[in-house]
Amino acid sequence: MGKGKCSSILAGVFSVIFILGSLVLPNVLPGAKAATGQAAKEQAGAVSADSVEEAGRNMQEMEVHFLDVGQADCILVSCGGHSMLVDAGNNQDGEMITAYLKEQGITELDYVIATHPHADHIGGLDTVIENFGIKTLFMPQKVHTTATFEDVIAAIENHDLSITAPKPGDTYPLGSSSFTILSPVKEDYGEELNNWSVGIKLVHGSNSIVMCGDAEEEAEEDICLSGLDISADVLKLGHHGSRTSTGELFLKTVDPKYAIISCGRGNDYGHPHKETLKKLSEAGIFVFRTDEQGTIILESDGKSLQFNAEPGTRE
Ligand SMILES: [Zn+2]
Repeated sequence: MGKGKCSSILAGVFSVIFILGSLVLPNVLPGAKAATGQAAKEQAGAVSADSVEEAGRNMQEMEVHFLDVGQADCILVSCGGHSMLVDAGNNQDGEMITAYLKEQGITELDYVIATHPHADHIGGLDTVIENFGIKTLFMPQKVHTTATFEDVIAAIENHDLSITAPKPGDTYPLGSSSFTILSPVKEDYGEELNNWSVGIKLVHGSNSIVMCGDAEEEAEEDICLSGLDISADVLKLGHHGSRTSTGELFLKTVDPKYAIISCGRGNDYGHPHKETLKKLSEAGIFVFRTDEQGTIILESDGKSLQFNAEPGTRE
C-alpha cells in the first residue's frame, strides 16, 4: 500500500471518529453552564458573603504536576478526585507516566488533552489509553502520518473512544476547578502542527494557569485577539521555551507571576532559548524548569499557590 493511500485511509478513519465524537458528546458539559451562571451572578453582585464563604469551605485542593519527561510535555491536574492529563510525553515515557498516575491513585481520567500530533506530546498516549478509562478526549482536527500518531489512533479505536473537538470559549468542570478552551482559534493552521495546539486556561478560585502546548507566536496572537480572558498567575511556556513562542503581546496579556518550562537537560534544540529567559527575567517572572527542578508540583487552595521547588534558573 502506498503511503498516500495509507494516510488518506487514516484521515477517513480520523474524521469518522471525530463525527462520532461530536455526536456522542455535547460541546459543553452541564456543569459548565452552571459555572457561567454563577459567574454572571457574581458580576451582578447577587452572591452573598455567606455563600462566598461557603464556596471557600467547600473548595477542594487542586494539584498540577508538570512531569519531568525530558524534552516533552506531560501535565497532570487533579482536583476533588477528578483528573486530567494534558499530553503524554514521548513514546518511551508511557510506562513511567502510567506508574506515576497509578501512584496518585488514578484509575480513570475525566479528560485527556492531546495538544497536537507531535511525538513529544502524544508519544505515551497509547499506553495511557491502554491503562486508564478516559471520559473525554480532546484532540485538534489535524492528522499526522507518523507511526506514533497511527499508534494513538489505533488505541483510540481499540477502546471505542470518541474525540471531542476543542472549541474556544467552552468551559468544563474538574472538581472545584474548571478549564476553558483557548485554542486552536482558527480552523486551519496548515502544516504548522505546533499552531494547532489545544490551549486551556485552568481556573481554581482566584488562581489560574494557562498552557497552550507548542503554540507559536502566530497562534498566540490569535488567542490574544479572540477576546477570551487569558490573564493568569502561571504560564506553561509554549514549545519548551523556544524563541518562536511566548511572544511579547501574549506574555504581556497573560501577565503571569510564574513560568513553567518543560524541557530536557542538554536538549538538541537549545530550549529554553536565551531570548525567552531574558524576556521572563525582564518581566520579573519566577521560572521553574523541569530540566533543573525535575517534576514540578503546584498546589492551589483556591487563594494561594505553593510549589514543591524553589524557582531559579541556571545560566
Ligand atoms: Zn513539543
